[in-house]
Amino acid sequence: MDASISSTDERGRPPDASSAQPQPQALPPRQVYDARLQTALLRIAYKNTTASVFVHLFASLGAAYLAWPIVEVQALLILWLSAQLVLCAARLAQVARSRPIFRASAVLPLHVIRRLRIYNGAGQLIVCLVWASFTFWAVIHGTDTIRHTGLIIISALAAGATGTLAAEILVGRLYISGMLLQGSVALMLTTRPDPVIALLGVVFTLAMLVVHRNNHQVLAKSLMLRFANQDLVLNLQAEQQALAELNATLEARVSQRTTELKTLAEHDALTDVLNRTGLLRWCEQRKDQLGHDDAFAAIFIDLDRFKQINDGLGHTFGDRVLAETAGRLSDGVAPDAALCRWGGDEFVIVLSGPQDSLHDKTIALAEHIRSLVEQPMEIAGHDLSISFSAGIAFAIRTDDDISEAIHCADLAAGAAKRKGRGVTESYNCALLTEQERNLTIAQSFKSALERREFTVAFQPIVKAGSHRVECYEALCRWVSPKLGRVSPDEFIAVAEETGDIVKLGAFVLNEALARLASEDLLRHGVKVAVNVSVRQLVAPGFVEQVRSALSAQRVPPRSLVLEVTESVFDPRNRTVILTVLTALKGLGIEIHVDDFGTGYSSLSRLHEMPISALKIDKSFVQALDTHGRAIISGTTVIARDLGIEIIAEGVETERQAAQLEELGINSLQGYLFGKPSADIGQPLDDAPQAKAG
Ligand code: C2E
Ligand code: MG
Ligand code: MG
Repeated sequence: MDASISSTDERGRPPDASSAQPQPQALPPRQVYDARLQTALLRIAYKNTTASVFVHLFASLGAAYLAWPIVEVQALLILWLSAQLVLCAARLAQVARSRPIFRASAVLPLHVIRRLRIYNGAGQLIVCLVWASFTFWAVIHGTDTIRHTGLIIISALAAGATGTLAAEILVGRLYISGMLLQGSVALMLTTRPDPVIALLGVVFTLAMLVVHRNNHQVLAKSLMLRFANQDLVLNLQAEQQALAELNATLEARVSQRTTELKTLAEHDALTDVLNRTGLLRWCEQRKDQLGHDDAFAAIFIDLDRFKQINDGLGHTFGDRVLAETAGRLSDGVAPDAALCRWGGDEFVIVLSGPQDSLHDKTIALAEHIRSLVEQPMEIAGHDLSISFSAGIAFAIRTDDDISEAIHCADLAAGAAKRKGRGVTESYNCALLTEQERNLTIAQSFKSALERREFTVAFQPIVKAGSHRVECYEALCRWVSPKLGRVSPDEFIAVAEETGDIVKLGAFVLNEALARLASEDLLRHGVKVAVNVSVRQLVAPGFVEQVRSALSAQRVPPRSLVLEVTESVFDPRNRTVILTVLTALKGLGIEIHVDDFGTGYSSLSRLHEMPISALKIDKSFVQALDTHGRAIISGTTVIARDLGIEIIAEGVETERQAAQLEELGINSLQGYLFGKPSADIGQPLDDAPQAKAG
């Protein structure tokens, strides 16, 4: 039997997919529910068995009561009734035994179903046989009343079985047929045959069988519908559960992503420490947790000579230095303080604590992080020692004050830088004045150029050993009517930033060459050294400008030295710079690298540029008794091999001069031999002699 609902409509057409009417869901084929359906049908069959046992019992008692007056069959009646009673008891016992089995599981294994079905079916068929014995006796030997009573009872039992045995298709059919046909057969075998009623019995049997089959189908279908509904509910519940889980996962992912975005927005991508936004937010949260007497302190950290690392070794390398420095700073910062990359090579630490102890705590932290950062650093095969200039300032707890404190700490760090780098300065009011001065320098510079406020001073450079002056370095000076004497360290940086260095440099070059020509120094082979910034070198027409300045003053190119800084090794301008320097060298001009050793340019790259001499920075000369000696002696050995001369600047004592000469330095410059001065010392005897001694 196929219990599935047809997938066509009443007119046999397939359902219209475009129809707006929702289509009833098709039942799956009966096999899908096989064990489940059979178990449910069997459960119904066993449930009906109890009722059917009692119906049989009362029918048997009624039949026996009617037949009892026939005395000769009383013994047989007792036997028959006993058989019925035993059968009823056995069937009730079987029902009782089946209960725990049905209770244990909603779906029984097929072999258990088969066993239970055989027991129930056997019971029904034995009942049928026992009734047949009564029917045959009643029809063949009984009175008319008994005969009719017997026929009525079996017909009623068969009719009832169309419902009570609807769950069991085979047993039901056998039972109905057995019950009804026994009457028809008996009616034909009797001496008083009744073919009409016998035939009626056959027709009735067929009708009952059809009713039974229909009942079975309805029952099976309704059970399958129930299963489908149950499955649907379960599926819906499972889908709801899955949806709830998906929602929970989505919510978790959204909140994780939000946290990630917040972290990204508040952290610096390169160093993973807080950025400005993150720091200000941290301060805002922190201030709510602070007591009445607590305050904030800011430490502004500015790495020393980081630009030279970037220029000399490239930005990727610079990034690694920043990341390593940030790591070291984080190691030194306690969890109740915040570290931020303020920008470029600047970091800020904000900490808090009771006002009376915060100053000492901040100084101690600044010293601690300095000891961490200044440890030797090894990156991509380069040994570096990083230092920084730091500024400290304090604030009470409002947002404005924190930003203001960071600004003041920045000013203090700038002052530390000007003091010679590698130190920590606390903010005071004088710094604000200094800041204002820097601003005024920038503003006054342009008009100073026009008003020719700049002059040039000359400082001798002497030959080692003889101390004969062989060159004068031209150093720019500015005395401003508004600002007073301004140091080149201050205004050169401003001029490089604004680009005015190109004009200023041209002025110094012309002035230096003019003085050299006018002082009768050329005759003695004395040269002049002019400082040139990279911005001048890469400016269009620089070589031509130098050539025309030389010819205007009638100075031979061999009498001119140009001092460049290590930024000429910057890979970004390498080709232009190499072309310009080669052209200058081609004219006969010497190129010296100034402040050598501060810019991280590698000794191994010296041969790439047409360099005649290196001028060792004065910081190494001043450290001759410590690490300076090893650096100077190492540089001298390598430079000598490359045919490059070595000049030491910042020589202030006889002892330094002697030590440097012992190391094989070619030339010396410093206050010992003469400070920068507007007057070029007149040559003594035939050759210029420095005033050393
Ligand atoms: P620099 O070229 O390295 O010049 C040497 C600096 O060291 C000069 O400082 C000089 O006065 C100072 N100095 C010389 N001997 C001694 C000494 O024995 N002890 C000490 N402590 N210092 C000594 P100054 O004149 O202040 O110039 C500073 C820097 O400004 C120069 O360093 C140079 O880089 C730059 N500069 C000066 N004039 C010019 C210029 O015309 N053009 C360019 N591009 N830069 C210039
Ligand atoms: Mg110089
Ligand atoms: Mg120098």
